[in-house]
Amino acid sequence: MSIVVQKYGGTSVADVVRIMNVARRIVATAEQGNQVCAVVSARGDTTDELLELAREISPNPPEREMDMLLSTGERISCALLAMAIDRLGGQAVSFTGSQAGIITDTVHTKARILDIRAFRVQEALDTGHIVLVAGFQGVSTDKAVTTLGRGGSDTTAVALAHALGAEVCEIYTDVDGVYTANPSVVARACKIDRISYDEMLEMAAAGAQVLALRSVEYARKYDIPIHVRSSFSDSEGTWVREDDETMELEQPIIRAVTYSTDDAKVTVRGVPDKPGVAAQVFSALADAHVNVDMIIQNVSEQGRSDISCVIAAEDGPAADRALRDIVAQLGASGYDADERVAKISVVGAGMRANPWVAAKMFSTLADLGINIDMISTSPIKISCVIEEARVEEAVRTLHTAFELDDQCVYAETPEGGAAAKPRAPAKKAAPAKKTGAAKKGAPAKSGSAAKKAAPAEKRSS
Ligand code: ADP
Ligand code: ASP
Ligand code: MG
Repeated sequence: MSIVVQKYGGTSVADVVRIMNVARRIVATAEQGNQVCAVVSARGDTTDELLELAREISPNPPEREMDMLLSTGERISCALLAMAIDRLGGQAVSFTGSQAGIITDTVHTKARILDIRAFRVQEALDTGHIVLVAGFQGVSTDKAVTTLGRGGSDTTAVALAHALGAEVCEIYTDVDGVYTANPSVVARACKIDRISYDEMLEMAAAGAQVLALRSVEYARKYDIPIHVRSSFSDSEGTWVREDDETMELEQPIIRAVTYSTDDAKVTVRGVPDKPGVAAQVFSALADAHVNVDMIIQNVSEQGRSDISCVIAAEDGPAADRALRDIVAQLGASGYDADERVAKISVVGAGMRANPWVAAKMFSTLADLGINIDMISTSPIKISCVIEEARVEEAVRTLHTAFELDDQCVYAETPEGGAAAKPRAPAKKAAPAKKTGAAKKGAPAKSGSAAKKAAPAEKRSS
């Protein structure tokens, strides 16, 4: 009997009808002779609503209590799903993250999984139960309830797939796979059939929220293939897995255009330009568990310079506390944070040996009159910080400029330029149907969104 690990996102369990649909899918998987462990997210916008509620009580709530609060969203959907399965005649049992043996570090609101002691889950599976696990949470080595950061149910699912020895982790969501750009912003984005861990990691880090970054890190580390698919249809989704020869042959230069508006640019002004200063600034941020993305140090004038970096906007209060002290210690002139920025990135393993990708990205932004504030690169990604108000327009224009519209394969021509290649005919026969909702939490109306989003046929030349 094989073990199947599935994860259902918030939109997939947003209301009673959807919970019953998910229950039917799970029961059907069990009836096919599988042991099923399903990880569930909080319904619809529950997590956002709980965050809002906490902020109404306090502008700076204790993080331990935030975790107590936020972890309830997943517990509710998990218990409701168990009831739904029971009503369909299945035998289900639900577990909190702690009961499922998800052991984390002690960093509240973004804990890391240290160990999975899935004995109870395994035992329940072995006694014929369908097991439901509340995603996004665990118990710390200090025995406190922790949460894993936004999107953390994906990580719960991948970690359980590894612990239970499942061959694949199925992530059911409100789109039918990973697209060349967010399909609710780029109407002509295209579903990707297969993508390597490395590329998916860069996409997730660059804001493609369809998979949480840590879930992809975990999957890559333990080589767990992820199948991202729609909970509203049976169509094949996107496979995220180790690069193999066939994938390398198909490798496009640009795989996707991604963006994030959840960042802030922080600048520490007038820091003394001498050895050890950057170390002090970034140690303070690290001590406050603030992840830093791009870093720029301006040219020094009269022995002083500015240091800027990008952080997640939600880390703003923690960064604020850390930088207040460090500015005083260094005798710097001050710091500020700008949340009206966005990060826009092009990702693709094929860009490794193609220096013109950067030039094309910058000139496309220049043609739009968009100023680039910061730039960072990896071998397979180029990211720019730009003004937030223009980011969606920039994503669409770059998607067109890199000829990703309606097709996923972008390759170099013999002349050294670039040309879009149509997909292989076999794949072209089944154009991707979009079920993408307009925004997170909104019901996915397959059909209406699909009509607006997807052209009737993919371009054939
Ligand atoms: P869930 O609640 O199921 O975890 P999420 O809202 O976290 O779902 O992730 C799915 C959403 O991610 C999609 O509705 C889509 O708007 C967004 N998204 C952003 N970038 C991409 C991308 N490149 N491919 C697919 N979806 C994307
Ligand atoms: N409910 C959490 C969130 O909204 C975790 C998740 O959905 O994966 O971020
Ligand atoms: Mg998610």
